Amino acid sequence: MSARPGMWRHWLLAAGACLLFPFAAAATEAAAADSLPALLDVADSIKTSDHGTFVKLLQQMEPQLGQLSPAQQWHLRYLKAWDVAYYGDYERAGGLLDEVIAQNVDPTLRFRATATSINILGIGHRYEEAFTRLDKLVGQLPQTTDKRARLQGLGEAAQLLVAAGQYDLAGQYAEQMLQNLPPGEGPCKGLFFKAEAAYRSNKTDAREQLDQAIDRCVSVGETVYANTLRAELAVADLERGEATQAIAVLMRNYADVQHDGYQTLIAQFDAALAKAHLSLGNLAEARKHALAAVQNSIKGEYTAPLGMAYQVLYRVARKQGDLAAALAYLEQYMAADKGYLDDVSAKALAYQVVKQQVLSGRLQLDTLNKQNQILQLQQALDRKAVEASRLYIVLLLMALGFITLWIYRLKRSQLRFMWLSRLDSLTGICNRKHFIEQAEQALQQAVRTRQPAALLILDLDHFKLINDTFGHGVGDHVLKHIVEACRPLLGARDVFGRLGGEEFAVLLPDCAPDQALARAERLRSAIGTLSPLEGGELTVSASFGVADTHSAGYDVSELLVRADHALYRAKSEGRNRVVATWAGTVPTTLAASEVRQMGASA
Ligand code: GH3
Ligand code: MG
Ligand code: MG
Repeated sequence: MSARPGMWRHWLLAAGACLLFPFAAAATEAAAADSLPALLDVADSIKTSDHGTFVKLLQQMEPQLGQLSPAQQWHLRYLKAWDVAYYGDYERAGGLLDEVIAQNVDPTLRFRATATSINILGIGHRYEEAFTRLDKLVGQLPQTTDKRARLQGLGEAAQLLVAAGQYDLAGQYAEQMLQNLPPGEGPCKGLFFKAEAAYRSNKTDAREQLDQAIDRCVSVGETVYANTLRAELAVADLERGEATQAIAVLMRNYADVQHDGYQTLIAQFDAALAKAHLSLGNLAEARKHALAAVQNSIKGEYTAPLGMAYQVLYRVARKQGDLAAALAYLEQYMAADKGYLDDVSAKALAYQVVKQQVLSGRLQLDTLNKQNQILQLQQALDRKAVEASRLYIVLLLMALGFITLWIYRLKRSQLRFMWLSRLDSLTGICNRKHFIEQAEQALQQAVRTRQPAALLILDLDHFKLINDTFGHGVGDHVLKHIVEACRPLLGARDVFGRLGGEEFAVLLPDCAPDQALARAERLRSAIGTLSPLEGGELTVSASFGVADTHSAGYDVSELLVRADHALYRAKSEGRNRVVATWAGTVPTTLAASEVRQMGASA
């Protein structure tokens, strides 16, 4: 699968990982608590489960600050900082938390403030700082005896590691959350992160784990946690083509999600609903939910739901023949998608960078020590020329050599890691993001050299049927086969990428329109003669849309939207054919094929 559906974000969940009572109990507690310190604890425990009462309690305590001990005053300040973050003023919240970390003496509260601050750094895309702090936080875990603080810290670690693609490690932290639950706390959050890690790493029992986590979270009133997982499951259902089921689950919980008011989750639900309705052909419903998802997305942030929503809006506009709107939405989709993918790899990269900085920091320290020792020994040698010292110097020099080699290898693995994040994991060709970057570069070069270029998009025909008939595994096998069949027909400068699902694109530099048609035609017929299963009971075909720089210009989005439009025509005119966007004569060699011309207006 190209993009993991589970890449949703839910940063604040770990920040709220300190809940004592479900909703109703909390309100009663609040009423019963007559002393200020008791109120403080109640407020702390209902931050996310009953946020309205939490805010009221903070306001109630504020004027009586003087009656609290210094430690309690810091506790209140921490809660206020947390609330500032909840409402999205991350900059101010970060400053307030840093004060709590720097100035208060209670190590448990400092630990909690650090955990929350890591969350905020993550939200603000400052991943290197987040991981650097996480490294410290994890270092403090052994001394942290307060079980709730530990749970929060472990949740933070699991969350950030899931985001960075370190699923095994994240799963281990989630396991630790489950091992040592504070009194009154159920396994909801531990199971939540464990299931997330299992799901993202494609573990076979991930679905059962998700179901179990949902059940446990529902049973203690943690609807936000449960619904976050439901949204992920719905996207997975969608990918398997079970749109009706996805809609049923999402709609059953839609009112609850609206009531909880957690914007990120509302956007996830609407985006998934939009996609599901689109796949069923309910254009009006799809558009309605997509617009709602855009509305509810966090401003100024690129998230997966936002990208998905724009993609739906684009496809709806295209199906309705509104090319201008389609182009506008496609551009927004590409910006959101690129931003989101950049963000995903930024997280993964930050993790690697910090890990290696910590490692190479230690190594460099060692290098310095060794260099010092060598210097000292050499001075001693000048005085005495002891044979044993000479041998020792040789050993030290060898150790230095090893350390240098190791640092070099760390650097190299970092580079390799960056490279891998550009490839599609199933087929090994460029992923969507990297394809667009490479295509942009090739097009800039074409502008400089005044050469024409063409872009073609191909989409397998009735691929869903292949999945349904032969299973998803065979579907994946077919995708790899297709890529292998196309490769020999592409030149060294052609850019080949998987745009997503069963949709691929090729940018052909230095390629005139008639050549582009011929190339597409060759690819089409190569795919048509494939028989991916031994027995030959399975054949495949693909439809092609071709756009060129002469009629569309050198902008990659414009080329993509036009090629996609042509592809749509190829589908509606019967599939297994090539359709181009420009007018002109069909080369005679291609007359027998199903090359069609649409006219420049398309
Ligand atoms: P059309 O001819 O109109 O393109 O029909 P289609 O069935 O190919 O198109 P549709 O977009 O409805 O279905 C595409 C399917 O591709 C749905 C989805 O389950 C499947 N799919 C997407 N990504 C993957 C993948 O990585 N592996 C497999 N096996 N299937 C995938
Ligand atoms: Mg298809
Ligand atoms: Mg498709």
